[in-house]
Parts: sequence; C-alpha cells; structure tokens
Amino acid sequence: MEIGFIGLGNMGAPMARNLAAAGHRVTGFDVSGAAVEGVAKAASAAEAATGREAVITMLPSGAILGSVYAEIVPAAAPGTLMLDCSTVDVASARDAATAATSAGLEPVDAPVSGGTGGASAGTLTFMAGGSEAGFARAVPLFEVMGARSVHCGGPGAGQAAKICNNMVLGISMIGVCEAFALAGKLGLDAAALYEVISTSSGQCWSVTTYCPVPGVGPESPADRDYRPGFAAELMLKDLGLAREAAAASDAATPLGTHAAELYDAFVAGGGRGQDFSAMLPWLAKQGRD
Ligand code: NAD
Repeated sequence: MEIGFIGLGNMGAPMARNLAAAGHRVTGFDVSGAAVEGVAKAASAAEAATGREAVITMLPSGAILGSVYAEIVPAAAPGTLMLDCSTVDVASARDAATAATSAGLEPVDAPVSGGTGGASAGTLTFMAGGSEAGFARAVPLFEVMGARSVHCGGPGAGQAAKICNNMVLGISMIGVCEAFALAGKLGLDAAALYEVISTSSGQCWSVTTYCPVPGVGPESPADRDYRPGFAAELMLKDLGLAREAAAASDAATPLGTHAAELYDAFVAGGGRGQDFSAMLPWLAKQGRD
C-alpha cells in the first residue's frame, strides 16, 4: 500500500519503519527533518499526503493535528484512509474527522497503548473510532504495527477509550504507590505486600505488571532507576485530556481531577523525564519521617 506518515518521533518512527519492513511504500514527513530507514522523505506534510491510499499521523497535540489536517485534507485523494494515531482531545479528533469526511476522505482515530517498546516490537493496541468500513481498511495496518485493535465506535470513540483507560491507570498507579508508601511507614515488607495484593482484591496492572517498587514483581521501570517506560509528563497530558473531556461533557471525575493535580505537582517537582511510577519515591518523601 502507498502510505503517507506524518510525525516521525519516538512512536511514529518505529511504526513507519515496521510498515516499510512489511513491504508497504511509506513516504514520511516530520518538521524536525527526521529520517527513518526504509521510509522515503517528503518535503512537506501535503506532499506526504498526496496520492496515498492511507495517511497516518502521529503528532503531539490536538492543535498540531488541526494545523496538519488543514494542510493535508485538501491534498489527499478522495477516499484516502486518514488514520490518526496521536493521543489528542476528543473535540480535536471529531473536528479532524468532520474535515476529512467533508472532503470525501475516510477518517479513523486510533490512539495506541504500548509505548515506545510496543511501537518498536509491533505489539501496540489500537483503540479505534470511525465507520465500520474505515476500521476494516485500517485493520491490515494495525496488524503490522500492533497486536490488537478494538473498534470502539464512531469518530472520537478511540480517543474517548484511550482517555478513560489512562485515567484509570493514573488513579490506580497513585493508589498503588500510596499503599506501598504506607506499607513502608508501617514496617511492612514490600515483597510480602506484593504477594498479597497481586493475588487479592487490590490486584491491578499497576501492581502485577508494573510494580513501582524496585526489585519487586516482574521487571519494570522501577528496576531501571525509573527511566521511562511511560513518562510522567505523558501521564499528566492524558489526565489533562480526561479533565477537559469531563468538563466538556459534565461528567463527575473527582479522582481523575485529583490524579491530574498530583501528577502536575510531581512533574513540576522533579518528575519530568522520569517514569510515571516514580510517583512512589516522590510520595514517600511527602510524609513526615
Ligand atoms: P514525539 O514528540 O517523540 O513525536 C512527535 C513528532 O511530531 C516529533 O518528531 C515532531 O517533530 C513531530 N511534529 C510536530 N509538529 C509537526 C508538524 N506540524 N508536522 C510534522 N511533524 C510534526 O512524541 P511521541 O512519543 O512519538 O508521541 C506521539 C503521540 O503518541 C502523542 O500524541 C503521544 O501522546 C502518543 N503516545 C505516546 C506514547 C509514548 O510512550 N511515547 C504512548 C502512547 C501514545
């Protein structure tokens, strides 16, 4: 397939590389001038979008997505599959979908989970919003870049699912960090607490797969001095999107709001660049010794 790929950063570059390695003809563009092995370089986003069967975007924010779509929607051929894999706010995703549909294109929002490791290994999970036909056309691309895809509903549904999932993750990670910080103050062995929680009703991904305590549970960023993994500022971004979505839809998300405030304080207080599970040593320092 002829594919345009716009946004060749930490996630986009390995995704584009995997598509090229699978035999697709990929033409990429990034404002940074980044080049990717096996991917032809376009001089502009419009050039990357011209004459392709699918155009994939992997960009930092809804505002940037909007400005890129203003350029590529008029350039893309009628019927082009417009697959946006960025994590953005639901309103920007719906605006992009409306612009694409009005121009006779086929939009699908499909944010991912799995991080840079999943992008390199081709094991991402895609959460998709768009028409049945658009989703069906995107599946062969999802199968190259990922291991799983879920059609969540119409335009914006993929972003809505991503935002809700990551709100649960942010809240659960803070809860797990609080429990291990409290356990430390109570003189309880972290490995013993892990054995209990991971087989009891407090069990969750933040304990069993991604335990924030070094040396406890399967290997995780805690064992690598909290190098990301999933950076704290990206969690803060996603909790901000959840907050915006809750305000716009009049949903009560008090713990989501509190989680955003805690990640805001953590990132401002030295957490930027650390994994989001480094909330544990930061929280442990907050209490009195
Ligand atoms: P990144 O900052 O490494 O990459 C974004 C790229 O977009 C950069 O290379 C930048 O130069 C490029 N860009 C910015 N403006 C542009 C424009 N106008 N035209 C063309 N290129 C432009 O970010 P990333 O980690 O690759 O994340 C990309 C998206 O994926 C974000 O929405 C992020 O929230 C989401 N995401 C990231 C992760 C992760 O672990 N990194 C996990 C899941 C989802």
